[in-house]
Amino acid sequence: MENCVFCKIVSGEIASRKVYENDEIVIFHDIEPLARIHYLCVPKEHFKTIAELNDRRAEVLGRAFVTLGRILPSLGLEGGYRIVINQGEAAGQTVPHLHLHILGGEPLKWEK
Ligand code: AMP
Ligand code: ZN
Repeated sequence: MENCVFCKIVSGEIASRKVYENDEIVIFHDIEPLARIHYLCVPKEHFKTIAELNDRRAEVLGRAFVTLGRILPSLGLEGGYRIVINQGEAAGQTVPHLHLHILGGEPLKWEK
């Protein structure tokens, strides 16, 4: 996808601080962290929203969770973490390429 910053990170055109990569996903540090630890987990295929999921994309996301469960302890998140997916502009989605925010490394507020 032209002009998509995450597609450019996937292709290597834009540098990132990658902590994990396989055929389907890449995980790297967010450039503007909102917690002491803030990673982004990005499927390599470009699509914007959960509404665009199909079986194949859902399987990729499912496997991403399996991978996260396996590697998160090695990423400094033993104390707990939060996974967030912003969907649409009103929710603060600024990059139109589906991604999981993974936040941790400190106590996280949860206000209701
Ligand atoms: P969202 O606002 O949910 O779409 O999240 C987009 C995230 O991408 C923001 O937290 C940005 O800080 C982050 N971001 C944007 N450009 C880059 C980049 N080149 N490298 C790493 N993170 C980025
Ligand atoms: Zn993209």
